[in-house]
Amino acid sequence: VQCGRSDELEESRDKATEGHGSGAREVPPGLLEKLVYDALVWCSLHGLVVGDKSVQRSGTDPGIGLVHAPFALLPRPLTDGYWRQACELAPIFNELVDRVSLDGKFLQDSLSRTKKVDAFTGRLLDIHSKMLEMNKREDIRLGLHRSDYMLDAETNLLFQIELNTISSSFPGLSCLVSELHKNLINHYGKDLGLDSRRVPGNTAVSRYAEALAKAWNEYNNCSALVMVVVQTEERNMYDQHWLCVMLKEMHGVASIRKTLAEIDAEGQVLPDGTLVIGGQTVAVVYFRAGYSPNDYPSESEWRARLLMEQSNAIKCPSISYHLVGTKKIQQELAKPNVLERFLENENDIAKLRKCFAGLWSLDNIDVVKSAIERPEFFVLKPQREGGGNNIYGDKVRETLIRLQQEGSEELAAYILMQRIFPTASLSYLVREGICHQDHAISELGIYGAYLRNKDKVIMNDQCGYLMRTKVSTSNEGGVAAGFAVLDSIYLT
Ligand code: ADP
Ligand code: MG
Ligand code: MG
Repeated sequence: VQCGRSDELEESRDKATEGHGSGAREVPPGLLEKLVYDALVWCSLHGLVVGDKSVQRSGTDPGIGLVHAPFALLPRPLTDGYWRQACELAPIFNELVDRVSLDGKFLQDSLSRTKKVDAFTGRLLDIHSKMLEMNKREDIRLGLHRSDYMLDAETNLLFQIELNTISSSFPGLSCLVSELHKNLINHYGKDLGLDSRRVPGNTAVSRYAEALAKAWNEYNNCSALVMVVVQTEERNMYDQHWLCVMLKEMHGVASIRKTLAEIDAEGQVLPDGTLVIGGQTVAVVYFRAGYSPNDYPSESEWRARLLMEQSNAIKCPSISYHLVGTKKIQQELAKPNVLERFLENENDIAKLRKCFAGLWSLDNIDVVKSAIERPEFFVLKPQREGGGNNIYGDKVRETLIRLQQEGSEELAAYILMQRIFPTASLSYLVREGICHQDHAISELGIYGAYLRNKDKVIMNDQCGYLMRTKVSTSNEGGVAAGFAVLDSIYLT
């Protein structure tokens, strides 16, 4: 029996891993029901949850209106080599962000035309200019980044989608999804032909907590706090709470949550640069808001952002780190000979360049022409974060033609990017307690943490991962935005 069974296992495993990155894996109906049920119980008991949008207070009051986070029932197969490649890139990108952040002129020049037509980016640049004028130095620099990738089916290359330097989300929940998958495979692995040891452990939340604690330590004031800048309503609050609970329990560092409006009302910077909010000294400002124009409904929020930037608190991110994460800078860094301005190591440069997809500014007339002719091969991206802002397909053509006809400077608000087409495969996506089987594609995010104090690099590491899976017919990929589900990796 053992023997026959293991043949079956081999077969189903081959099926599970056929083709690179393919997740095609049929689960028999009886087993599927059990898996979904157990998974939903597991999520509820282990805090793999978000606020339920049908409950009014779910975005403000913890403990009210919880629903499991959308998740993939089984982890996504990924070839070991791609996994290692993505992990290896993390410290190199961390260092790149730091180097670029120190070149204020590069940031200002690269974004100067964008600034004219994009008021939001303009406001960020204004704060950055003020800091340059003040000669503001950030000796202690903390970056909590997430570099996102898709595996291009045609070239078999792992391409970077973007690098997030502000509000990289899901360090908390992504760890739980890996644990959920390990747990399900421990129970049902024999029937599924899967081995839980192939799901890499995910350290995102503990390593991010460690980075925040180490930064707090560098600030060297044991009564100071970490302040999490939050949106007024946040259904992804449990992801953030996971991090803060870790910070408190593993490192004894307390945190407070404040909106930008509250910071404006309660905050002040003392003559020595100390940031004080409601009488409490802030050592580290950790942004989980402030990346979108919606986060700045009035001047009050902009005042708060400027206040924090002027202080000597450690900003995660500083305004410079924030700007390095814009799509425009991603595109500028992909130009020939630009990486060489910031990095010395040729191997590192080659590794970064290998993961750059086609990226173009819209003053490249030939590329704009190609995009109008074949819009399906491009993505048109404004300088925005948080999902749901990019333009695809026929809208790329319409938008480009309109902007060209207007002869407007507005083209400078966007960049064009080569569209990546990952292999789609059948997946089980669970949302609001219901499991759907669909063709889906995945995006791999690798968390990175960087901390330095003057010349001393205290931390520069890969810190775990986020896999997100979405139906292949959907353009965008945000989980919070409702397009994707949280997933993990099954190494093959
Ligand atoms: P954001 O900062 O809003 O997350 P992204 O650049 O990550 O912006 O784009 C959002 C989503 O759009 C991605 O998660 C991905 O699903 C999709 N996307 C972005 N760029 C590409 C691309 N070049 N090819 C295919 N899909 C893309
Ligand atoms: Mg982003
Ligand atoms: Mg993104």
